[in-house]
Amino acid sequence: MNSAVVSSEEINQLFHDLFPLCRSISGEGVRNTLTRLQKISKFSTHEIKSGTSVFDWTIPDEWRVREAYIETLDGKRIVSFSDNNLHLVGYSCPFQGELSFDELVDHLHTLPEQPDAIPYRTSYYKKDWGFCLSYQEYSQMDQSARYRVVIDAEHFSGSLTLGEIYLPGTSGEDYIIHSYCCHPSMGNDNLSGIVLWIYLLRYLSEKPRRHGYRFVIAPETIGALAYLHLKQNDLDAVKGGLILTTVAGPGPFSLKESFSANSLVDRAAKCVLGQVDPDFICRPFDVLGSDERQYSTPGFRIPMITIAQSQYYHYAEYHTSLDNLDCISTESLLASFNLYINVINVLEGNAILHSLSPFGEPMLGKRGIYPMLGGGLNTEGSNTSHDRLRTTLWVTFLADGKHTLLDVAEKTGVSFSEVEEIALLLEQKGLLKIKYPERGLR
Ligand code: ZN
Repeated sequence: MNSAVVSSEEINQLFHDLFPLCRSISGEGVRNTLTRLQKISKFSTHEIKSGTSVFDWTIPDEWRVREAYIETLDGKRIVSFSDNNLHLVGYSCPFQGELSFDELVDHLHTLPEQPDAIPYRTSYYKKDWGFCLSYQEYSQMDQSARYRVVIDAEHFSGSLTLGEIYLPGTSGEDYIIHSYCCHPSMGNDNLSGIVLWIYLLRYLSEKPRRHGYRFVIAPETIGALAYLHLKQNDLDAVKGGLILTTVAGPGPFSLKESFSANSLVDRAAKCVLGQVDPDFICRPFDVLGSDERQYSTPGFRIPMITIAQSQYYHYAEYHTSLDNLDCISTESLLASFNLYINVINVLEGNAILHSLSPFGEPMLGKRGIYPMLGGGLNTEGSNTSHDRLRTTLWVTFLADGKHTLLDVAEKTGVSFSEVEEIALLLEQKGLLKIKYPERGLR
């Protein structure tokens, strides 16, 4: 139903527009990506100058590549950056020279176990250069030959670019929705996260909201640090967040828990995922991963989760040229979009239940909400009437001013939206009030 707000055609167009761009932790690839996204929904960009300190880190110089290739001395190209931007190690220093194969080989990266794949490698914080090529291409190189290597690139004092916008709410609670935009031409990691980020931003921008949402898109690690540095005094209301990465692969949905495993975002995600697949993959928090690493540090301790489809580290094409447009699909992206919206709906709709008839069970029959069946209720069975009665009774049972709609969904295994619907009916019948603590009785 929600997919009506974003079409397969526009997702597909965006995939194709953004896939070729050579993104890195700074530079035109990131800027051009953010400019394209701003055509879909507005947000601000910040340029943070090279050399700026962000906590214990320093914003690096900007990187620009004009061309890079290896060729034989008679001019036969072995690999070229213009064919695939993964061929050049990210942030490679400039280099020009003629080398023997033995001198060159230390600068070549291959994956013998995946002979068709070009690996993705970077060298952000160590001055180095290198090329990545498929093992097949590598195997065909003449080991007695000499090669001409050209990396026409430069590092210069520029800036790092990040995008962000704060969508205010009324609840006094904020959530972060973050993706990273530093990977060159790969699909699931992390073109998919970028595309999901912008459509969630557009969706929430146009919708009435109880909570505030901080949308952040930045180069991984250093960009998250730069954002946290920029906004460190504005994050007191942040209760949790979502890291959008690897969300359009073929694999099943999985959850990477936050460090707390039981924060509201963890619980909302488990509630929604449990409806999709009761046996969904749940991975505990780990200090390795993506930008939750920065948000989760002792100074911030913001619980951040990731719901992925073919999560990074866990699919064969990860960080290779095989993670291309064939590895992702608009259908998977749309499934992620709908799932994330359902998680946000839980965050938005989770309210406290207050019974207005707390002494003895309320009599549902006289209000027309006790399921009347000719043959009576089969309380051992799982028929619809029985399930609905059970959920209704759990709502009334937990309506003690301490429990929420999410508590009922967790207790019953029923979807949040059905619990919400039953609670609204009971409220309409005068049996309880659904209270959002910050806004009083509704
Ligand atoms: Zn990655």
